[in-house]
Formats: sequence, structure tokens, C-alpha cells
Amino acid sequence: MRRINEIFESLQGEGFHTGTPAVFVRFSGCNLACPFCDTDHRAFTTMTDEQIAAVVAQFKPELVVLTGGEPGLQVSERLVDLLHTEGRKVAIETNGTCPLPANIDWVTVSPKEGSAPVLTAANEVKVVFQADIDVEKWHNAIKTDHYFLQPCSCKNTSEMVAYIMAHPHWRLSLQTHKYLGIR
Ligand code: SF4
Repeated sequence: MRRINEIFESLQGEGFHTGTPAVFVRFSGCNLACPFCDTDHRAFTTMTDEQIAAVVAQFKPELVVLTGGEPGLQVSERLVDLLHTEGRKVAIETNGTCPLPANIDWVTVSPKEGSAPVLTAANEVKVVFQADIDVEKWHNAIKTDHYFLQPCSCKNTSEMVAYIMAHPHWRLSLQTHKYLGIR
């Protein structure tokens, strides 16, 4: 059984797939405790992989984003297979501290300070920018074609833009769903 916080559809607001319609499966629970975390880890419903896939099947978007919490603590190869059977492309947003099933189509690693990612490659890396944190260690540790920096809770944007201009191997990611007032 998986602990599911919510399943809903919206536009992906962040990173490489910004603007893409998606179904979000938010798992409850995390192995980290970031001060800026916006997930309520106490609320969840227990569901089987089949029940999760059945709810996802009610939505149209092809892209399914497994998020959290830390979805890597609970996601199974079987769930990804079930979603593939429904014709979905499966992405995951992870802090990178858990090994993942190999059949996931798109891996976004969002490493957090004080943790040690076990993933050394990803489809994209997305880091919440904080001026006192060395983000280059993650650029060096995780191989990808897409490195994004994102302001912390839509703040410190100008500071982050200045950092990107000085370190142009990073690109800007904004939480556009927050600016648009959508989920
Ligand atoms: S890794 Fe993500 S879900 Fe976990 S505490 Fe940090 S922000 Fe929250």
C-alpha cells in the first residue's frame, strides 16, 4: 500500500516540462525535513498501485508526475508498468536519496542541503537556490543535460538571476503555477 496525499491534474509549473498538462500523484512522507517544504506529510490515503493507476486513468494528460514528499520511498516498478499500460509517460521528482525503478521515463533530481544523493545521473537537476548553499557540488555530482536553479518560495529571484549570469551552465526555473494561482 502507498500513502497518497493527493492526485490531481494541472500544468507542470516548474523545470523542463513547464506548461505541460500533467497528472500529479503526490506521495506522503519524506526522509528529509526542509524548512521551506510545502507538503503536509500528515495527510494521506492508503492506496494500492492498481487504485492509483485507476484514478490516474480518469485524467487526460499523458504525463504523470510522481512527487511528494519523497516518492522514491514508495514508488514501485509495478506502478510505473501499470501507468505505461495506460499509455502514460512517467516522470518523478525526487530528492535523489533513494534508488529508483529503472522503468521511469523522466527523472528530476532536486537535491537538498545536508543530504547525500545516491543518484549520479538524471534527466534534469532542479535546485532551490539559497545564497549560502554551494550549488556547484550538485552540478559536479549529478550528470544531466538540464541544470535549473529556482528561487526559494518565489523570493530571492534577483540574487539568483545574478548567480545564473555569473554561472551560465544553470538555467532559470520559476514556480509558474504560483504566479498563475493554479495548483
Ligand atoms: S525533500 Fe522535498 S518533500 Fe522532502 S522535506 Fe524537502 S522539500 Fe519537503
